[in-house]
Amino acid sequence: MNLRKPALSALFVCLLGAGFSGAAAAASADPATLGKIRDAAMQSDWSYQRLEDMTDLVGPRLSGSAGGAAAVEQVAAAMRALGAKVTLQPVKVPHWVRGEEKGELVDYKGRPASITQRVVLTALGGSGATPASGLTAPVVVVKDFDELKARAAEVKGAIVLFDVAFDQGMADRGLAGNAYGQGSRYRSNGPRMAAELGAAAALVRSVGGANYRLPHTGATNMKDGQRIPAAAVTAEDAMLIGRLLKRGPVKMKLTLTPQILPDADSFNVIADLPGSDKADEVVIVSGHLDSWDLGTGAHDDATGVTTSMGVLHTIKQLGLQPRRTIRMVAWANEENGLRGGNAYYQAHKDKLDKQFAAIETDGGVGRTFGIQAGVRREAEKYFVPLQNALLPIGAGVFNRRDSAAGADVHQLEAGGVPSFMPYVDTSAYFDYHHTPADTFDKVDPVNMKKHVAVLSALTWFLANTEDPIGRAPEQK
Ligand SMILES: [Zn+2]
Repeated sequence: MNLRKPALSALFVCLLGAGFSGAAAAASADPATLGKIRDAAMQSDWSYQRLEDMTDLVGPRLSGSAGGAAAVEQVAAAMRALGAKVTLQPVKVPHWVRGEEKGELVDYKGRPASITQRVVLTALGGSGATPASGLTAPVVVVKDFDELKARAAEVKGAIVLFDVAFDQGMADRGLAGNAYGQGSRYRSNGPRMAAELGAAAALVRSVGGANYRLPHTGATNMKDGQRIPAAAVTAEDAMLIGRLLKRGPVKMKLTLTPQILPDADSFNVIADLPGSDKADEVVIVSGHLDSWDLGTGAHDDATGVTTSMGVLHTIKQLGLQPRRTIRMVAWANEENGLRGGNAYYQAHKDKLDKQFAAIETDGGVGRTFGIQAGVRREAEKYFVPLQNALLPIGAGVFNRRDSAAGADVHQLEAGGVPSFMPYVDTSAYFDYHHTPADTFDKVDPVNMKKHVAVLSALTWFLANTEDPIGRAPEQK
């Protein structure tokens, strides 16, 4: 790789010169341009500044909230300032608001008469409400769905706790997504299944890694008319309840007063850097603009939005014009509805051949190792120049998969659009995910630059390649 360097720096000067005199002629995805893009991104903290703006000035951005609306304005303004063509695509989003939330163990064997124990918990998105004065019921702990069904008689009228520990050991070895999936299915589906069995409320052990008695919220799938109160308890409190249950029955008083308001108006923020000779073909680079309400959604997913914004900044800064249109999308409502991704798909589903590729970043900015690519095997060889350009920053891994779509672009991928995501170290991602601690200070600025470099080079490559990278693999 070092062999490339002298040639690269010579070209850097020459192309930079062209940039200052206005948009350069469409460059192909040649190694020199890719190297120049990589280096420019590694030298810029523009995205990191936008991240600070979003998390410190706006803060939480749950769908329907004032923060959600302010973030739309902030991103649109920053993209206009760069000279991008900005469109706001209207999206109706769910509007759930958190209320009071309180848990207390009011009876258990061995309890001194004057003692009750506070349980640290937080309502899950879409949770129903208890009466304002709370509800009191016995707690039943189950380890899985089979046990839930086997104990249906006890579950009726009880507060069910799904006690499934997050497998940090798995996350440490590069399988954080799998570890998350194993836990989050109880959060997603447990409350609905408990409701069907007549439970008074449902609790889940927080799905996440660092056990600093932090509750991790998230969405849960319940239907209108069948909502029961549902909350995440901390790992520590789930273990406490488990230990007390070994001594005898445990009763909890639970107060949750969230509300579901009428759907609200929101937007996908779409910012285009128009292409030259293939302007009608689009390469999407994206993250989701909404976040949970507890923290400031720094890793999830302000980093995804601001690094995607950074792609346009990098390319604009170098005065380059892509052949295909580069489209930054800040998706509305990923966390509790996917309405933004769905609205985009509905608007484009009849012309998906014009959606050349879709990138989404939604795994935070731990160290970026390279790229995960949902392309066919025969297309893998075309990405070697891109891989080579990213090797000098330790991001040369090209991980081909049958599916690599983030949540907002999965419908596009199912429709044949090749999808990509940065390959990121997510071993610590679930420490703060959906907690009050997902804040700006958790983001490493050097990792962030590397992430922008990977995204920028990938986006540029896709926007200019003449190779037949084809459509996405058949989705199962
Ligand atoms: Zn996310």
